[in-house]
Amino acid sequence: MSTKKKVLITGAAGFLGSHLCDRMIKEGYYVIAMDNLITGDLRNIEHLFKLPNFEFYHHDVTKYIHIPGELHYIMHFASPASPIDYLKIPIQTLKVSSLGTHNVLGLARAKKARIIVASTSEVYGDPLVHPQNEDYWGNVNPVGPRGCYDEAKRFQEAITMAYHNVHDVETRIVRIFNTYGPRMRLNDGRVLPTFIGQALRGEDLTAFGDGSQTRSFCYVDDLVEGIYRLLLSDHHLPVNCGNPTEITIKQFAEEIIKLVGTGTKVIFKPLPMDDPKQRQPDITKAREILKWEPKISRAEGLKITYEYFKSLPEYDMTFRKFGTQEDEIMKKAGY
Ligand code: NAD
Ligand code: UDP
Repeated sequence: MSTKKKVLITGAAGFLGSHLCDRMIKEGYYVIAMDNLITGDLRNIEHLFKLPNFEFYHHDVTKYIHIPGELHYIMHFASPASPIDYLKIPIQTLKVSSLGTHNVLGLARAKKARIIVASTSEVYGDPLVHPQNEDYWGNVNPVGPRGCYDEAKRFQEAITMAYHNVHDVETRIVRIFNTYGPRMRLNDGRVLPTFIGQALRGEDLTAFGDGSQTRSFCYVDDLVEGIYRLLLSDHHLPVNCGNPTEITIKQFAEEIIKLVGTGTKVIFKPLPMDDPKQRQPDITKAREILKWEPKISRAEGLKITYEYFKSLPEYDMTFRKFGTQEDEIMKKAGY
């Protein structure tokens, strides 16, 4: 029997989940990684398979979850996260943050485990308050193309609070703002991999709308540090984690063109419906409670991420998770 504390990480083969697996292994935990691989990739965690304190369950968290023996922590990160992904698989997206969250909360209750759930800046929708602090209730269109993600995450927060209040489960809620780094899928549709992929292929970079909408990008190692601190803290209400340095999408495209240096330019495409116009985390709470703030500058983080994308095999340049039927759904949603 292992004496290490056991942690279940859902969404472990995804971008954030795989970095969390690395971190928890480094901290000396026994990691049970769970994923159904709908948007993830086993290559993100294959380096861990040889370790004695790591195991992988190929499982869909919307189905009953059985973990034998003790379990001390759960990190629930399973869910598509790219707008293109969740537009293509809206029902799976709704299910993973509702039924899936119900299952992991039930598991946490049964095992007396502490659980952290991955929420998102999308709970603020297209925000009318700027920067966004945790007291803002948001501006979400439930029936728009992003509703499947935003409302599922809002439900996730609500059921997490209910398990805390009714069953005394030790819960943590992290509201994650746009995060980037190695192991994002080159064709997952999120702005950073899209722009780097386009620049690497010598194509023009497609800014949506007039590119004046803003985002604030956090490097993955910074985010993981914030999540780890929140998990170990005693704070059960939502906490924003992200990098407050804000930039317009047009400026961001220009930075990537400079970084990759392939002589391409920015072109403009229609803005998708309900695309938030501005986004910047207010991280006062994380600073106070977790003594945390991001340390890695965008220039530094982009360089590391670009090196990663450059090192990928040709296959990743063209690989797409979803097919033509999903493309039709996208067209209907105005993409
Ligand atoms: P990702 O798509 O890379 O990873 C998600 C993982 O969850 C994938 O490996 C996928 O296969 C798995 N998954 C999905 N449905 C599942 C199911 N039913 N059962 C088991 N596994 C399932 O996305 P990511 O960027 O790593 O995001 C991880 C989490 O963080 C998500 O909950 C997302 O909402 C949240 N988040 C991420 C960001 C960001 O900027 N990356 C921002 C806000 C919130
Ligand atoms: N975006 C863009 N071109 C692209 C992909 C995205 O201009 O090829 C924009 C998108 O409209 C949004 C921002 O970049 O305003 C961030 O998009 P992303 O899909 O990364 O995530 P979001 O923050 O919208 O959830």
